[in-house]
This record gives sequence, structure tokens and C-alpha cells, in this order.
Amino acid sequence: MHNYTKKELMTLITGKLRRNFGRDVEEATSLHMFKACAMVLRDIISERQMKTEDKVVEKHQRQVHYLSLEFLMGRSLMKNAYNLGVLEPLKQAIEGLGFSAPDLFEAEPDAGLGNGGLGRLAACYLDSMTTLEIPATGYSICYELGIFKQKIVDGQQVELPDNWLGLGDAWLIPKMDEVEEVRFGGKIEDEWDSLGNHRIKHTDYDVVLAVPKDMEISGYHTDHANLLRLWDAKSPTPVDMHLFSSGQYLKAVEQRAMAESISKVLYPEDNHYEGKSLRLKQQYFFVSATIQSIVRKHRAEYGTLRNFHQKHAIQINDTHPTLAIPELMRILLDEEGYGWDEAWYIVTHTIAYTNHTVLAEALERWPQQLIESLLPRIWQILVEISNRYQQLLTDYFHGDLSKVAPMAIIWGGEVRMANLCVCACYKINGVSALHSDILKKDVFKDAYQRTPDKFTNVTNGIDHRRWLSECNPRLDELIQDCCGGDKYQLQPDALKGLEKYQNDAGVLSRLGEIKTANKKAFATWVAREHGIFLNTDAMFDVQVKRLHEYKRQLLNVLHIIYLYQKMKNDVHFDFTPRTYLFGAKAAPGYAVAKRIIRLINSVADMIAKDPICKDRLQVVFLENYRVSLAEKLMPASELSEQISTAGKEASGTGNMKFMMNGAVTIGTLDGANVEMHQVLGDENIFLFGLKAHEVAELKHSGYKSYEYYVHNPDLRAVVEQLNLGFGDGINYDDLARRLLFGDGCPADEYLLLADFESYRDAHVRAGKAYRDPKLWNKMSLMNIARSGIFASDRSIRDYAKDIWKVPVREIK
Ligand SMILES: *Cc1c(COP(=O)(O)O)cnc(C)c1O
Repeated sequence: MHNYTKKELMTLITGKLRRNFGRDVEEATSLHMFKACAMVLRDIISERQMKTEDKVVEKHQRQVHYLSLEFLMGRSLMKNAYNLGVLEPLKQAIEGLGFSAPDLFEAEPDAGLGNGGLGRLAACYLDSMTTLEIPATGYSICYELGIFKQKIVDGQQVELPDNWLGLGDAWLIPKMDEVEEVRFGGKIEDEWDSLGNHRIKHTDYDVVLAVPKDMEISGYHTDHANLLRLWDAKSPTPVDMHLFSSGQYLKAVEQRAMAESISKVLYPEDNHYEGKSLRLKQQYFFVSATIQSIVRKHRAEYGTLRNFHQKHAIQINDTHPTLAIPELMRILLDEEGYGWDEAWYIVTHTIAYTNHTVLAEALERWPQQLIESLLPRIWQILVEISNRYQQLLTDYFHGDLSKVAPMAIIWGGEVRMANLCVCACYKINGVSALHSDILKKDVFKDAYQRTPDKFTNVTNGIDHRRWLSECNPRLDELIQDCCGGDKYQLQPDALKGLEKYQNDAGVLSRLGEIKTANKKAFATWVAREHGIFLNTDAMFDVQVKRLHEYKRQLLNVLHIIYLYQKMKNDVHFDFTPRTYLFGAKAAPGYAVAKRIIRLINSVADMIAKDPICKDRLQVVFLENYRVSLAEKLMPASELSEQISTAGKEASGTGNMKFMMNGAVTIGTLDGANVEMHQVLGDENIFLFGLKAHEVAELKHSGYKSYEYYVHNPDLRAVVEQLNLGFGDGINYDDLARRLLFGDGCPADEYLLLADFESYRDAHVRAGKAYRDPKLWNKMSLMNIARSGIFASDRSIRDYAKDIWKVPVREIK
């Protein structure tokens, strides 16, 4: 590995400024400067990526392809500099050229090509796959607009477009010679040639061009580099449209608009299915371009597709890329002329599926007519897959329709994508031990009985280099001092080395000082950015994640209202001061989620105005929660709110970021919290609430939220206050009604009232522990020390060994 010096980087940067922007350093703005730095690093990675690719082809290595409609990358400048080992010289070079390095890093827009956890997971996995030297490519759409920017106006969420490409495209390399053609609509006819061979003839279709915009992915301290291939949709219509006759002209304009709308915007729903035709177009566009691109390169390397499954593992991130299954079938059948059985063998030994949710409203079920008209050939293949599968199931279950019907692929006029994945994929994994268990015992119970070996678990993880070393340099320094230097960067288990300091007063107080310094730094940023002054003497109690009823931000708010009322009514109320921080985007069409955001702001306002709360209780809603905000917040957090209804959160990854940064969790036994509890023991986590099986039992026996309301006067007063409002003239009786009576849904569907008391008790325990700094710092230290298993390096090793069957970098 070549080590770049400050001087070399200065030369490279000034060269970029002159050649790409026609400017000398003196004339460059910070935006030019950012782009020039990005391009310098991009060139370095690109060089390595080409060498990596040459080696992969030369050695005929097996490759991984990670398909995801979302990659929530965040910023890349500091990340790439860090991975390349040039962060210090780059900072010096920037300063040497008369710019502020921190300001320049801050000027980079987040690449927000995702909604939340699922998209961020894909980004962390790219880093780990590359660091572990796996030949891997990520694929997605080059959305012109990423996840919307959130403004809070009068307490309410307002969405603004996120035009990231102006600066963000500094990282992208368009490859015009690798364009793929994707076909929509048209007619399918059977054709027999002179030898009697059957051929499929597709006519009258619309073409959309898929242009790859490749983002270079660096790994930590390795020459290995990978790509994230983002497909941009372009119309094939030439610009001289005025030459067309009128009929062609109109069709051409329509086609152009249709084509270019495909990559216009990311769908902003998290954990929710919307049956929109543009979304289906996005899915097929992305999948078809990706599979064609993989196949094209494979043919060039091997001259045949017969060994395709031996050379490629295709991982699909949730069901969004499921059409990869019929698309690969289509190519093998129609373009290669393989028979059904051979094509099916290849497909079912290539594609693996990660399930991310058990929420019914998130399961994709596409209307038959939509697929039939938009993708006629894909539809035919789906029908054949579905018919064959149904026959197989009918035989296996001796015609028992109670088993066959729920497993069917096409049923009641809909195509069920999860069932198609279960049928065709060679592995199916959940994302935490509990979630994978629920898949086996509940969601895919009968499929599990038939093919148990397909089912496995890979617990999610996070890129600990981004989420600890890079974002929390003070803590990184302490770890380096205690755990053998930077060893933990490639061996996250080395964090265990901290454990032997669990009773070391010096280390514990240093840990406390680090947290205090991080809180102050965060408060300074919030004051500058938003003009809000955080009380850094209070415990930072944080809930940041997408707004969703199952994540139960409302339970947190109900408890805050209780604390406020208690403070008003009881002068002796013994309370550990808290600064509550919320951050959450609501899907623009999710009315209840938006009401909860407004409620948080109403409550925050009331508390801010009441002198009785001064220095004791503060609530702040941080607008526009995103990766770059999370990177500032995690190091400053003390209590991590992970309070979803047990059985609903598949894994969570926010929980892991907090843990790694020394925040202690208050949480339910849900998702990966279960595994956190396993390594931490009761003494290092504040657990509360019903367990997943108790939730199921309570729902089964007929849950009555009203009874909790009647029997608990504190809870009653809190719900009453929703009806009355919070002094700003807005009442929240709609939310109160939802809790007590439901509203076209079960009353209190997510069991907030059932868990309220237990949640309050856990908060009392947390408050007591916090008042004993030595105890608290010890808990914090144990959380960091035992967080190594939640590094995405561990997750990727699991995938490589159990699912992809590819070798990984050995760390000595
Ligand atoms: C990690 C992360 C998430 C996921 O958080 P959960 O608490 O696991 O839902 C969502 N958004 C951003 C910006 C993140 O960094």
C-alpha cells in the first residue's frame, strides 16, 4: 500500500482544481475544494478497484452480488480517507491549502439513498465485504432525490427534496459503455424456427436505458476495492425528436418522461408496502439491469452460463429485488435456450434471500394485472414457477389446502414476493436470533418443515470503524490505550480487552470524561445549528429511528408526560435530570406518525416554558435525523431507547451503535436486544416489558387496553392530558382514542398501556444507576467491551461461511 504524504495530496488536489474546475487554489470555493478532494480519493480507489477486478477475473474467483433498493451511505470523504489511511495527511493538505478540514467534511451532503436501518445495513455491509477482501458488488438505483429533508415548521414535519447529486456525484463514475437495456410492456408471441425450436418473440415494448454510475468502495487497510453500481434511468430516444413524424413524436416524449421518472426519487416508506406501478418499474429496472450486467461479464469470462451458480452468489436485501428470480430465468430460457429444469437449477443455487420484517403491512403483494401488463414475459415465468410449486406443495402436504394456500406464490390475483423467495432461494435468513426463530416457527412455519436446511440466521451488525473509531475519536483513543492499539479495527472482539478495567477507577472516570466532552461537543453543534441549548448536566436519553407505531415513540412520550405531571404534583419527586432527544422521519403519507411528531413538539414546548422543569427535564426534537447526525449523536448518548413491542423489530442496528459508544440500553426483549442481553447479563441493561410470546398470548386472549387505563390513575391522567392538550391549543384526542378504542385497528395495537408500568420501573432503575457515576461508567464500559459481536465484520463472516461460500481475509 502506498502511503500518501501531505505534499503529494496537495499536488493532487491542486491538479484536480486546475484541470476539472479551471481554478487555482486562491480562486476555489469550498465546494470546488470538496469535489477536488473527493476526486483525488476516488482516483486512488478506482486504481485499486481495477486491479482487484483484474485479479478476480484472472483467478476466476467466486463473487458476491448484493442487491438492495436502498444504500444509506451518508458521507464518504472522511470515511474513505480513514480507510485509505490518509486521514491525517489529507487534513493537513486541506489546511495547507488554506481551508478548514472539519468545515470541508461538513460540507459533504449525505448520500441518503435509503430510509433507515435496511439501507444503512447495506452500506455497513459494503464496508465490511471490502475490508474482508470479498469480491463483491452492491447494486441499487441512482435516485436523483434521496430520502427527503425534514423541516419542523410549527411543530409539524415538512418534507423538502434532497438533491444530493450536485456535490455527491463527485464520487460517481458513469460507464457509458456498460449501459443495459430494460424492456417494459409489449406483446409476447411464440415462434418456431425452421428446426422446430421454440422461441419467445417480444415486440412493441418500451425501452429504458440503464446507465451505471459506479461508486468506488474502499476497505480498511487493504488494497482490495469494490463497487457500488447505481443505475440511472435514461430514455433511448435521440435528442433530434423534431425529425419524428407526429405519432412517433408523442410516443417518444411519453417514453422519455416514463423512462427518466424511474430513477427520480426514493420511495420514502420504511417497513411499508405501497403497490404503486412506478415502484414496480423501479424494482424491475434495477433488477433487470443488474442481472444482465452480471450475466454479460460472466459470459465474457467463461463463454457459458452453465457454471453461473458456481461463480456467483446473489443476495437480495428483503423482497424488493425478488424479480431477480424470474429475470435470471428469462435470460437462461430465452437468451441461452436452456430447458426449464437446467435454468431452474442454476437460479435456485444462486439467489439467497434476507427477510427483514414480519409486519403484515410490509409484505409485498403485487397485483397480477400490474405485472402482467408491465412485464408480460416475467408474468409467464412467474405463472410457471407458481404452478410447479403449487403442485409440489399439494403432493407434499397431501392436498391440505390449509398449508398449500398460505404458501402459494400467485393467489387471489396477487403475487406474493416472500413466498416466491422462499420457493426459489437456496438460503433464507432472518436478521437476529429471535427474528429468525419467528420466521421458522410462525411466518414460514410450513416451508421450514419442508426445507429446514434453507433457513438460517445472520444477526445484523454495524461498521464499527465508522460508528466508533471514526465518529468517536476520544473513545477510540481510550480503547487503543487499553486494548493493544488499533488491533480492534480488524478484530472487533479485541474490545473485550476493556473488561479488565471494569473496576479501574482511572479508566472509569476517563470514560465518564469522554462522555461529558462528547455531550458538550454535541450541545455546541445543536446550539450553533438550531439555536437550542441542551442541558449537558442531565442524562442524555435518546430515541432516534424512523417514526413507526411499533417502535413506540409514543410510549416514551406518555412516560415523559407522566414525569412532568409528577413533577408538578409532588414537590418531593426524586428525579434524575434528563435531556430527552428525539429524531425521526415519518413517511409523508403516514398520518399517525406525523401526529406523534407534532405531539413530541407540543410536549417539548410546554416543558421548555415551565420553570419547574428547568435543569431537570428537557425534551428536544432534532430535525432531519440522518447518518451524519447519528454520527455526532451516538458518542454523546447515555441512555438508548430500544422499546419496540416484542416480536416486531426484526433486529435493529441503532441499538448496536449506541452500545458501541457506551450508552446503556433501556429496552424490550426484541430483535438483537435479546442477544445484547445475552452478552451483557441483567446487570448491564434495563429490560422491561412483555416478551414476544407473552405479546402473542395477550393478543390471543383478547387484549383490553381500557383495563390498564381504568386501573392505573397515573396512566389515566396521562391519557387525559392527550385529550386536553399541552397549552398550544392543539389536542391529541385522536391518539388517545387510538389507545383506548382503536380506529379501524385494534385498540392500542402495540401494547403501550400494557408495558407502561414496567417501562416506568425500568426508568427508575436507570435513574438510580446514573446517580452512581462509578456504577454507570462500569455499565457503559461493559457495553463497549461486549459490543464486538455486533460489528458487521462478524455478520459478513457469517454470510461468507454459511451462505456465500467465499473465502475471507485472514487477520493475524
Ligand atoms: C442506524 C440508523 C437507523 C436504524 O435505526 P434503528 O434504531 O435500528 O431503527 C435509521 N436511520 C439512520 C440514519 C441510522 O443511522
